[in-house]
Amino acid sequence: MSLQRKTTIQCPKCQETIEVAMMPSLNAHLDPEAAKRLMKGEFFVVKCPKCGFAGAFEYPLLYNDMAHHMMIQLAVGGSEAEVEEMVKAYREGFKETMAQVEKTIGQAFQSDFRIVKSGADLQEKAMIINAGFDDRAMEVMKFLLLAQVSEQNKDASFENVRYYEEADGKRLFLFFNGAYEVVATVPFDQALYDMMKNDFDFSLVKDEIIDLNWAVQFVQKAIEAEGNE
Ligand SMILES: [Zn+2]
Repeated sequence: MSLQRKTTIQCPKCQETIEVAMMPSLNAHLDPEAAKRLMKGEFFVVKCPKCGFAGAFEYPLLYNDMAHHMMIQLAVGGSEAEVEEMVKAYREGFKETMAQVEKTIGQAFQSDFRIVKSGADLQEKAMIINAGFDDRAMEVMKFLLLAQVSEQNKDASFENVRYYEEADGKRLFLFFNGAYEVVATVPFDQALYDMMKNDFDFSLVKDEIIDLNWAVQFVQKAIEAEGNE
């Protein structure tokens, strides 16, 4: 059991005070039920006992998928500047932990580390890692699909794309507009994923934030490097 911290929040609908238990970390191996709820987008949902209103209450959480050697830190709460401070502290904290582990056991730390800034990002990344995929190849794939779908639908605007698994295990990508509505879906293509995984060299990637913005820069650099050859 993880140590829980309790806090109170106010129901936005009826103003009832609701007590919420916050887990600082979630180990998918030790608490598979909680990991499942996280991947279904239910982990941060708080329901008001008085009026039944349900909404997300997100807080900093370290998600650990030991089976896939991946730790994902959710940095949320506070202003944008405060979140950036948290990100900086998490980066440094992870480096220190890695150095300490190496010093203690004499071998490299076995986990990769990621930082995400929303519960939805954590949910998506946990799903990607749980399915055994490389999130770097997946983000590059998302970026290329977004460019392709935008090109094919010039009248529509697509703000974001997410990997998603339906209840029956079907894998797909959801395309969102600016109002965060799903406006298109594309089935997951294993052959395309394999191409991303094999064609790009991710061995030098050191970033902890692996998202769509990262993918844009990564692909740009890869294209430039190819031009220089
Ligand atoms: Zn309420």
